[in-house]
Amino acid sequence: MFKQRGLLIVLSGPSGVGKGTVRKELFASPDTNYEYSISMTTRQPREGEADGVDYFFRPREVFEALIEEGKLLEHAEYVGNYYGTPLDYVNETLDSGRDVFLEIEVVGAAQVREKMPDGLFIFLAPPSLSHLEQRLVGRGTEVLEVIASRVAKARDELEMMDLYDYVVENDEVTKACDRINAIVTAEHCRRERV
Ligand code: 5GP
Repeated sequence: MFKQRGLLIVLSGPSGVGKGTVRKELFASPDTNYEYSISMTTRQPREGEADGVDYFFRPREVFEALIEEGKLLEHAEYVGNYYGTPLDYVNETLDSGRDVFLEIEVVGAAQVREKMPDGLFIFLAPPSLSHLEQRLVGRGTEVLEVIASRVAKARDELEMMDLYDYVVENDEVTKACDRINAIVTAEHCRRERV
């Protein structure tokens, strides 16, 4: 029988909105039926992060060679480091009929929109900009200078939410996850009718 290609789910939004936390909670749930695409980055691992689990941590020359070879579905430079999505994993997983979940920033999400317009694009929004700033400070993983540049970037990123299929407010992680799963289920029902 014909096997339908999986759904590409893209979760994006400003840094500090809680994309990583929402993603971890989604994948901790046995109800989640999609595969997480591990990104590649040139930034240094943070305490507790592992290669091949949180990211593929690679030197800049390796990353740039992969861009040249067309091996990345999208990539963006974000606060001095590259981030990107390995293309083969996404295509192979979608071809096998499974859904793939990307958690990426907005410049990369716009590139995915161009290349795979039939993806499902979800924007995770903070309740407010000051809320976002407090989260970045509270996380304590970056120095103040980096936080300031991430907040400035978040202002621009918020203006891009109109380009998404859905906006989910991250007022509470569990609620945001429930909304995302409801959107994915609804999207399957919408697409699978023949
Ligand atoms: P962090 O350094 O905090 O892990 O991530 C910084 C930003 O990069 C976050 O907004 C995160 O969602 C985004 N990001 C993570 N992986 C990718 C990726 O593969 N591509 C793009 N474009 N952004 C990514």
